[in-house]
Amino acid sequence: MFTPSYSSPGFKKLIHARDIAEPHIKWIIGEGDISFWFDNWSNKDLSNYKDPCDRERNVSWFLDDNSRWNEDKISIYLPNHVGNEILDITIHKNDKMIWDLSINGKFSFKDTWNKFRHKKNSMLFWKIIWLKNFPDKISFLAWQIIRNYLPTEDRMKDKGFQLASRCVWGCDDEENTFHIFWTCERAKKIWQNIFQMMGWQFDNGGHSNMDSLFAHWSHNINPSSKGCIFNHVILFTCWSLWKARNNKRFRDIKQECSQISASIRHLVLLQHWAFPYKAWQLKGNSYFLNLIHSNKSVCKLQLDIKVAWKKSDLHFWYQ
Ligand SMILES: [Zn+2]
Repeated sequence: MFTPSYSSPGFKKLIHARDIAEPHIKWIIGEGDISFWFDNWSNKDLSNYKDPCDRERNVSWFLDDNSRWNEDKISIYLPNHVGNEILDITIHKNDKMIWDLSINGKFSFKDTWNKFRHKKNSMLFWKIIWLKNFPDKISFLAWQIIRNYLPTEDRMKDKGFQLASRCVWGCDDEENTFHIFWTCERAKKIWQNIFQMMGWQFDNGGHSNMDSLFAHWSHNINPSSKGCIFNHVILFTCWSLWKARNNKRFRDIKQECSQISASIRHLVLLQHWAFPYKAWQLKGNSYFLNLIHSNKSVCKLQLDIKVAWKKSDLHFWYQ
């Protein structure tokens, strides 16, 4: 359902809650005064079989006078394998709505809240972001991502700016934080590549925003390994995706996926030059261990560079 941008925050939340709640409202068939195609009574999406020219039909139309399934009518509309499953559904005396998140089928606010809320350990959650000996600007970006504070096109539009609001990488999707950092095809490719480097299974489902994604990662990274390279790589990836987006948006520079991945590896090496990784930080990650090992000479070369302040030739500084 379209929600106008000027709707009140309370109304927007209600609409959002409705979309989440509706799949959990199920029906037990009785008289059949519910939509055959669209209500949730069969554990199947029957709307795919609806004839577009046909008028809306209730379940009762498919029942005979003795409240039994009319097999002929079922066979007209549904393929055999689906129809047979429908014929197995028991018909009761009355229609009954059930809430499938509770044991007894009755809606309970407490049970529902417990199912929907993202339980997270806030300490653990922030532990993967705010790290010792790590660039604050990258941690700050991660904080902005999680809080949805970045000036993405959708947010700028909400503030009244007239923008095309499309992803810079040519998708038809609206640009928002979750799209830039996760659902965009370009981002997915980068993450697949990064997850492969980290030896992680790529998990692309079950998340609806960056907040839940970071919570998921925070629970999957060993909490005793705060500051391990996994934390760094996740944050470097976010940083590189945001930089690539800005390069495209403001400078029309298009970075290929391979270049973005290379910049993430480069950031890992830079981090190592600044604060050499200790064995425990690299534990369980052979890819980055090898990367750092094979760049040892480069690291040493960089560390040997002497830095000194040189007095300026421009005397006006002192006048
Ligand atoms: Zn995109």
